[in-house]
Amino acid sequence: MLGQMQDRPLLVSSLVEQAEKFHAEQEIITRTVEGPIHRYTYRDMGLRSRKLAQALQALGVKLGDRIGTLGWNTYRHLEVWYGVTGIGAITHTVNPRLYEDQISYIINHAENKFIFTDTSFIKILERLEPQLQTVEAFIIMTDKANMPDTSLKNVMCYEDLIDAQDGDLVWSTFEENTAAAMCYTSGTTGNPKGVLYSNRSCVLHAMASAAPDVLNIGSETVVMAVVPMFHANGWGIPYVAPMHGAKLVLPGPHMDGASIYELLNQEKVTFTAAVPTVWLMLLAHIEENNLELPFLDRVVIGGSAAPRTMIETFEKKYGVIVGHAWGMTEMNPLGSLGTMKASMQDLPYETLLDYKCKQGRGVYGVEFKITDDDANRLPWDGESSGHLMVRGPWVVQSYFRGEGGKILDDEGFFDTGDIAHIDQEGFVQLTDRAKDVIKTGGEWISSIDLENAAVGHPDLAECAVIGVYHPKWDERPLLLAIAAKGKSPTKDDVLAYLSDRVVKWWVPDDVIFVDELPHTATGKLLKMKIREEYKDYKLPTY
Ligand code: ADP
Repeated sequence: MLGQMQDRPLLVSSLVEQAEKFHAEQEIITRTVEGPIHRYTYRDMGLRSRKLAQALQALGVKLGDRIGTLGWNTYRHLEVWYGVTGIGAITHTVNPRLYEDQISYIINHAENKFIFTDTSFIKILERLEPQLQTVEAFIIMTDKANMPDTSLKNVMCYEDLIDAQDGDLVWSTFEENTAAAMCYTSGTTGNPKGVLYSNRSCVLHAMASAAPDVLNIGSETVVMAVVPMFHANGWGIPYVAPMHGAKLVLPGPHMDGASIYELLNQEKVTFTAAVPTVWLMLLAHIEENNLELPFLDRVVIGGSAAPRTMIETFEKKYGVIVGHAWGMTEMNPLGSLGTMKASMQDLPYETLLDYKCKQGRGVYGVEFKITDDDANRLPWDGESSGHLMVRGPWVVQSYFRGEGGKILDDEGFFDTGDIAHIDQEGFVQLTDRAKDVIKTGGEWISSIDLENAAVGHPDLAECAVIGVYHPKWDERPLLLAIAAKGKSPTKDDVLAYLSDRVVKWWVPDDVIFVDELPHTATGKLLKMKIREEYKDYKLPTY
């Protein structure tokens, strides 16, 4: 027997409607690309999103059309998200930090009809325009006074476009599984693949994320969305904030420590989220200038592992609680978050810190399992490492245009490509990416654990560990290290330091000091490139 409740579709437009109805006066603050701080309200945002939707309809945009954006976190970008999605079209956030040939590849692959862009990315688009096969026009997200000179053909000014409309539009109603947004994976292996988020997955993810044990966002929260909107849906924050009428602060293009600090304090931000690199810059700025964080309550760190010292500094020195999160483009993106439990309250801080360094426990809505190479489930004992697999209403079913074929196992779980163990409390700890694990004499060495151990050396700034060929052991670890400013550590120093911290067979066979290491567009070490560079490296141990 079926339940007899209403089957209303979960649509992204309901979020902006909710904000307009109940939080019309709540503010959205942007550091604009043009420079000045811009302030307006959810009432303004709703009206302008509807005007934009009308303009898109006038341009012939229909259900299912893909509309690209190259934009920082700003109020105009937010309006584009809601305006596009509200008429059943799909917001395709293009990561402008990708390599240019990847940008043109994904715009063509997604068949973007229009591109909304900030003035910052005009030069990139001018270079790529001859290769873009489906783009009918570029809409520059600025006003007439700030329109740049450009060789781009078919250019429109955002403010002119919406000025021509009156905002008298009712959001379209359609099936909740209609695609709302799309993002491409960063393509560390092969071409980037498209992930199509549905209206339903975005709304369910926003509902789950707002909960107290997850992001804990309500109408009294002042949220700064630092994680870019082009990075896995801005971790869903641009959906969660309007859902609950949180004041929303958008940092625009300025992600340096001083700019972020200024907004945090001026706007009395209580919650924010971003990758560790951003927080490194912020903490360096605060420490250099002897500053405090008087308003900030919580910070979510994810995308890469949050270093232990970073968590400890935020919590002990500045009184800011850290939530270490894990997620990915193939989800909306949140999977796990490290909120402590009531039963952990009396644990000593060092033990709590051990938990906080893990990637957190599964958020309601996402099921986890870990499996061995033969797909057998492994126990949650905090030791057995295996393939981290996820299933749930905001986990990818298949990639855009079926790239990669069948990507779920027989139980419907998606292989994240991460290697992890899960403890009895349900806390996930990533030990590696499957392709980065160092396989030595039939055993696995976690390249991440080794990197974390090595970077604790006071004279090292950044480290990467890869497995290189060894005739006896198959692979052995090679450490590439960047020395800290003004320091000149030796190989022996580093190996001696590591010998005290990891088991003997984990100690790398060699250390090479380098000036820089390659990174992906989202700031992760580009191990594939490093492996390529050192594939013929002969270790001194054979
Ligand atoms: P992007 O490259 O845009 O950040 P991806 O979806 O490619 O997004 O990245 C997802 C991957 O990032 C995860 O599979 C995992 O390897 C890594 N990752 C995400 N969060 C964490 C975290 N807290 N600690 C370690 N690695 C993480």
